[in-house]
Amino acid sequence: METRILDGKKIAEQIETELCAEIGELRSKGIVPGLAVVLVGDNPASQLYVRSKAKKCRELGMHSESHELPTATTTDQLLGLVQELNAKDEIDGILVQLPLPSHIDSDLVLKTIDPVKDVDGFHPVNVGLLAIGRFTLAPCTPMGILEMLKREGIKLKGAEAVVVGRSNIVGKPMALLLLHQHATVTICHSRTEDLSAVCRRADILVAAIGRPAMITKEYIKPGATVVDVGTNKILDRESALRLFGANSPKFKAFERQGSVLVGDVHPTDPLGLAAAVTPVPGGVGPLTIIHLMKNALLACRARRGL
Ligand code: NDP
Repeated sequence: METRILDGKKIAEQIETELCAEIGELRSKGIVPGLAVVLVGDNPASQLYVRSKAKKCRELGMHSESHELPTATTTDQLLGLVQELNAKDEIDGILVQLPLPSHIDSDLVLKTIDPVKDVDGFHPVNVGLLAIGRFTLAPCTPMGILEMLKREGIKLKGAEAVVVGRSNIVGKPMALLLLHQHATVTICHSRTEDLSAVCRRADILVAAIGRPAMITKEYIKPGATVVDVGTNKILDRESALRLFGANSPKFKAFERQGSVLVGDVHPTDPLGLAAAVTPVPGGVGPLTIIHLMKNALLACRARRGL
């Protein structure tokens, strides 16, 4: 079987074109959707995420505000900023980059974001609305995945879906979204027994685990659609060699850069076995960022009753 590679980058570009047109239309009516991103501390990966989100926002013609605060910021100071952004009319969406430093009460910060501006969909009110299927704002990664599955014509209704991972950010909301699409959903985690047998039932297998290349051919039903959420950095040469082979472009890239990204799904095992698979990188990642922009637009419309 020829395995289709689901090109997340290309789908994200299509969505971006649609969002640009929608934002242009709003701007012609004097409405400029606005997103505020807040970062506490100097984690380089988080800095990169936050800056790329702000850049994408500006490219789309949205108003963007970045707040980069020092690690020593207290919970009260951060709550003060969130309240200020809640009250600011030109801000439609607020994103507080996680993880926050351990001395900050993350739950309290997320609960303080006005639910109508909660573009990450992490506020308990939005989590509840997602559970009952009456949501506007839901977490970006699973929403991006759902959009991709729909655009690629993957059958969801009646499909057997298995989600490996039960985090509040990816696994649980993914399972709920698939359930609302009438898939038959199983959620797996670190205590699931005979995981490979459960995964082999899946027409749609979503891996959101954080374990490099864990999903090998024993986990994949022939003809399944495999969505790889994991982004794991491989730093040792032996693993890179074992996973990719000495002559692969990925291994050559490892030799040049000293690291290479691998998903939770084995990079070559699904090929010829699955019907479709998302690559890492270039699969789920671009869909996550573009869905954040979509959520900002949804928040803008909802808040203004459009
Ligand atoms: P978490 O660490 O919060 O959750 C991981 C889940 O995997 C947990 O539910 C855990 O089970 C389960 N798990 C861990 N080990 C096993 C195992 N051996 N067998 C079965 N289940 C296992 O991670 P996230 O959900 O936040 O992220 C998952 C991955 O996705 C990470 O690699 C992350 O970097 C990536 N990611 C990528 C994004 C993108 O845009 N591409 C966005 C968000 C995340 P238990 O609950 O029992 O501990």
